[in-house]
Amino acid sequence: MNILLILPKTPDWLWGFKHALSFIGKKPGYPPLGLLTVAALLPAEWNKRLVDTNVQELTQTDLEWSDYVFISAMSMQGESARQIIARCKQAGRKVVAGGPLFIHEWEKYSDVDHFIINEAELVLPEFIADMEAGCTQRVYESSKYPDIRQSPVPSWHLLQIKHYELIGVQFSRGCPHDCDFCNIGDLLGRKLRTKTVTQLITELDGLYAAGWRKDIYFVDDNFIGNIKKLKSEILPALINWRQGKKVGPFLTLASMNLADDDELLHLMYEAGFTSVFIGIETPDNDSLAECNKYNNKDRDLVESVRRIHRAGIRVQGSFIVGFDNDTPAVFQKQIDFIQISGIAAAKVNLLNAPYGTKLYKRLLGEGRINKDITLASEKLESTNIIPKMGMDVLESGYKNLMQHIYSPHPYYERVKTFLSEYKRPIISAPLEAQHIQAFFLTVYHIGIMGVERAYYWRLLLWTFTRRPALFPMAITLVVYGYHFRKYCERLRED
Ligand code: SF4
Repeated sequence: MNILLILPKTPDWLWGFKHALSFIGKKPGYPPLGLLTVAALLPAEWNKRLVDTNVQELTQTDLEWSDYVFISAMSMQGESARQIIARCKQAGRKVVAGGPLFIHEWEKYSDVDHFIINEAELVLPEFIADMEAGCTQRVYESSKYPDIRQSPVPSWHLLQIKHYELIGVQFSRGCPHDCDFCNIGDLLGRKLRTKTVTQLITELDGLYAAGWRKDIYFVDDNFIGNIKKLKSEILPALINWRQGKKVGPFLTLASMNLADDDELLHLMYEAGFTSVFIGIETPDNDSLAECNKYNNKDRDLVESVRRIHRAGIRVQGSFIVGFDNDTPAVFQKQIDFIQISGIAAAKVNLLNAPYGTKLYKRLLGEGRINKDITLASEKLESTNIIPKMGMDVLESGYKNLMQHIYSPHPYYERVKTFLSEYKRPIISAPLEAQHIQAFFLTVYHIGIMGVERAYYWRLLLWTFTRRPALFPMAITLVVYGYHFRKYCERLRED
């Protein structure tokens, strides 16, 4: 049996870092951890091939080779997924689809032969058994959550690692918090499920053996969901694993209570975590109460961010505008907060209500869900809610906010604020020729040709004189700033 695993294309989005990756000659793309796990769940004697259409062409030869095509897609990959499904059907191939795109909208994909809904560990074995018995059904789903201590090591060998700058691993699934706009509780449960230390270290060993030396992203929705286990088992094991290895830093996602725990921060720093993505959402206390983000409410959010920066972990923040409590004043409030906190990379979103969330149910009851816009929409800066402040006010306020925070003066000021406080990390990615080449490209594209050239040279001089050890970080943030500015130019034109 020949199985072709395909990841559809992700459209250009802020966190795809398209313009930043162009400095090192790479295309945006994250290795498809879900498909690699699916591959590992399939019978070992089946032949498997992976095509990530973000970095590779899907060829007719690939399709003709396959007996079955497995597609996994996120909501934003809908358009590409539809095109790939159509090509598979033209080639007469059977299609099996899974992933967030299909969970609530599978009926819309009439060309797909079989759906694996929810987590594959539970339902894929049933599908395989039915395939072998010749009695398959169209939809396989379960309301249970699998024990991920039984999850196999992803099939890293299928990946062409040269295409990527970052690779994902997963320690846990689910999140104990209950933010009303978030569908993680619905999809993955509120009870945190974790892998064992042995499992995690085996995965990392497999990656290292496959030649991976760059950054490793723990894609958990909240890495610090079980702090006790992290402190007693996982982080000591990661510190130990890193000894004697030249491998890039760890990155992850976490909730803001990370800032409250010095021991946890120190252990993460020692393990090589240099960056954490945190859902800050809003500095407005009433809006935090509205969305049930109690972790962030009544806290000094600026001081929390600074504590994490001073511990040697860079905060990337996610923000939301469009809560019922938000008035037009919220845009300036967000700008001020992002600026003072020194968060260089801020991902600001319009409030959305994913299917299955408490927010969706409430707004549906109030007649405030726009059903024409699904979360499978490819228009990324859109929302399916009807905001209290009015859609025009929300959209124009959002665009102005984005233009402001990523225009050169505020952006470079934020980078300086951050670099002033950031503790030098003990880990840095091994220096490669492409990094040196990227530096010289920044000199040309930003230092000579860029509208931000004066800020660029001032930042380089400032870093050389005040924080020379952070020079590589300064260059990374310069490249990020270029990407964000380019992205916002496109946003302005939309
Ligand atoms: S903390 Fe993050 S992952 Fe957890 S419910 Fe809130 S938004 Fe979702």
